[in-house]
Amino acid sequence: MNPFRTILRKREGEELSREEIVAFLRGYAEERIGDGPMAAFLMAAFFRGLSAAELAAMVDVMLHSGVVIDLGAVKGTKVDKHSTGGVGDKVSLVLAPLVASLGVPVPMMSGRGLGHTGGTVDKLESIPGFRTDLTLTEYRAQVERVGCALIAQTDEVAPLDRRLYALRDATATVESIPLIASSIMSKKLAEGIDALVLDVKLGNGAFIPEPDRAAELARTMIAIGEEYGKRVIALHTAMDRPLGSAIGNALEVVESIEALKGGGPADLRAVTLALAAEMLVLGGVAASREEAVTAGERALDDGRALEKFRDIIAAQDGDARIIDDASRLPRASVQKTVVSPHAGFIASFDVRAIGLAAITVGAGRGRLDATIDPGAGFRMHVTAGTAVQQGDAIATVYAADRALAEEAGRELLAAIRIAPAMTEQPLPLIGPRIPPA
Ligand code: URA
Repeated sequence: MNPFRTILRKREGEELSREEIVAFLRGYAEERIGDGPMAAFLMAAFFRGLSAAELAAMVDVMLHSGVVIDLGAVKGTKVDKHSTGGVGDKVSLVLAPLVASLGVPVPMMSGRGLGHTGGTVDKLESIPGFRTDLTLTEYRAQVERVGCALIAQTDEVAPLDRRLYALRDATATVESIPLIASSIMSKKLAEGIDALVLDVKLGNGAFIPEPDRAAELARTMIAIGEEYGKRVIALHTAMDRPLGSAIGNALEVVESIEALKGGGPADLRAVTLALAAEMLVLGGVAASREEAVTAGERALDDGRALEKFRDIIAAQDGDARIIDDASRLPRASVQKTVVSPHAGFIASFDVRAIGLAAITVGAGRGRLDATIDPGAGFRMHVTAGTAVQQGDAIATVYAADRALAEEAGRELLAAIRIAPAMTEQPLPLIGPRIPPA
């Protein structure tokens, strides 16, 4: 195999054979091919795209670069959810225990926040003692015993993706549909799932904001899943505004517990129930999505989902007393109210900028190795369409010191458009399903 020829052919838009892709990627995995040629290949793939056959070969090498977990010993259809990421997106913390409480095993490996989006692992790690680094043996045993484990991607799972993702991050080749699809699906297929529900975000806070391209991303991931005999469906949900009111790790845990107690923001509950309905049908415990929504509502309102979350926290060495006593969670020492500079309507949000303001306050990370402040973040007091007067509270900033609170507060306010009238409609909270229902 001649790496130069592989890059040249991809650069010229020719279709590579399976053997060429496999040899090139394995060469990189085994460090016979360096970052330079791989960066050139990724840029060529970014501009030329990958055919279905090329993509299948790429996923195969990435998936088998590490362990493919076998959860065959766990009874039931194992179903996970993956979100393409957003701001205030704490759905996994409510959804996973909810679905597990209704008898569908949920093996969930999540990521840390990066860039403007938050990450489930960071939220969970704000719970004192909570271990997201279970061994694969512990992970398997917990899915079998508790019905759900919430862990970070381990080094054993799709290690080639980790290296490729870091290289893409450094070479401006992240936002490519086939590269994103291969990255996400190689990790998900390694988890031991039977089926997967994708929450593909739309709007200015989404990774791929344009509806047509987001739908193409969803279809690409569904096709990869089908190659491996997994049932995958996708639901578009809105990310043109933050989800719920809390943004920031411990703040989002508190809001998730409110939702698990049957309360919390209406949008968080609605998105959770829509995704739960898909998972419960795929898991074979509900005959229809309507039946599944009713079952989900009951499990949120009667405490079954909350008790499952308690079991998961305890199983992963976390302090489950946070469920009844939120003061046991970290909380930033400074609180500052951001007020409206004039009267009007909350017309729109620049969600990406809000995510970046969350990095400023310490709740997110701009680099993978950055540390975060688990108690920092924002609590929003308004949503799209809220009428405000001058001086009305728009949000509370939670920060480690006053200077950070001031700076993040200014950034947050600049990301919220307050207009004399509502001229644009927010996106529907739950958008199209793929395939259509
Ligand atoms: N998330 C991933 O895991 N991979 C990507 O390429 C983008 C988002």
